[in-house]
Amino acid sequence: MNGISDLARELRERGARSLALQFPAGLKRKAAEVADGLKSQGFSVIISGDPCYGACDLSLGLLEYADVLVHFGHTPLITHPSVIHVPFRVDIDPSVVRSALPLLKGRAVGIITTTQHTHMLPGIVEVLRAEGYEPVFRTAGGRTPEPGQVLGCSFEAARIPGVAEILFVGTGVFHPLGVQLATGAHVVALDPLSGQAVEVDAGNFLRKRHALIEKARAARHIGIIVSTKPGQNRYPLAQHLLSLCDRAYLVFMNEVSLDELLNLGFEAYVNTACPRLAYDDQVRFPVPVLTPNEFEILCGTRRWEDYMVDEIP
Ligand code: SF4
Repeated sequence: MNGISDLARELRERGARSLALQFPAGLKRKAAEVADGLKSQGFSVIISGDPCYGACDLSLGLLEYADVLVHFGHTPLITHPSVIHVPFRVDIDPSVVRSALPLLKGRAVGIITTTQHTHMLPGIVEVLRAEGYEPVFRTAGGRTPEPGQVLGCSFEAARIPGVAEILFVGTGVFHPLGVQLATGAHVVALDPLSGQAVEVDAGNFLRKRHALIEKARAARHIGIIVSTKPGQNRYPLAQHLLSLCDRAYLVFMNEVSLDELLNLGFEAYVNTACPRLAYDDQVRFPVPVLTPNEFEILCGTRRWEDYMVDEIP
């Protein structure tokens, strides 16, 4: 991993001597190499072995054993004086966006991407301008501090006034799907590694979500999951949801696991933790796991026509 010297300089400036390192799943295998680099610069190092899905999930407990927590892979979501974030960057060839052009319907195009590619946006804009398009991106702030950045829990950067065409540059189907649900825009998703571009259609996804709401109606008991992770905790929202239904109970969890949900044995759950749990992981759960606004639809306080993708403000 690049940048160990820069990181070491910043840590020295802070007067840090002992470090706790935290990596998301995709970067964990770099832990020993990074630890070697920092140890050779004179720091004592410990490593978090717990699962980590985002900057919402800081191992703040390790600050009991270290001066600074260095969180790799994500931009800041929670500010803490003893935490340093080191985002992970992946370079791409900006000209790869040409493969998405046949699918675009308008000339004004909003550009969004994930943390690892936000540094490539100026190059992408240059290519699109050379092709006669009017690319635009915005910095939403809050959970997404970088230009054009979206997270699985925040599509705010895609809400660009006057722009009805969005190009998502990144891997996976969840972000572009969420963007379409959040904005109603025509969304094209481009995988910058394979060069494959597709138009996003949320219709099938919505049909499955509707079926889950209907299935959850029969549940005798419903668990409203409240996360104890610092950046996923939506206790006030959970309390509001609890007030809508006398069959519901609050269930506090740090790690939302299939085994534990099965052990509890509720016939349906409502997820106020990371929004991706209800969407991406539903296939692993044998019972419905609804989003907060899906639960409102079930309780009759929201219309199906007002369906909204779940985001954390
Ligand atoms: Fe990522 Fe979920 Fe955390 Fe948002 S809440 S940063 S989508 S892991």
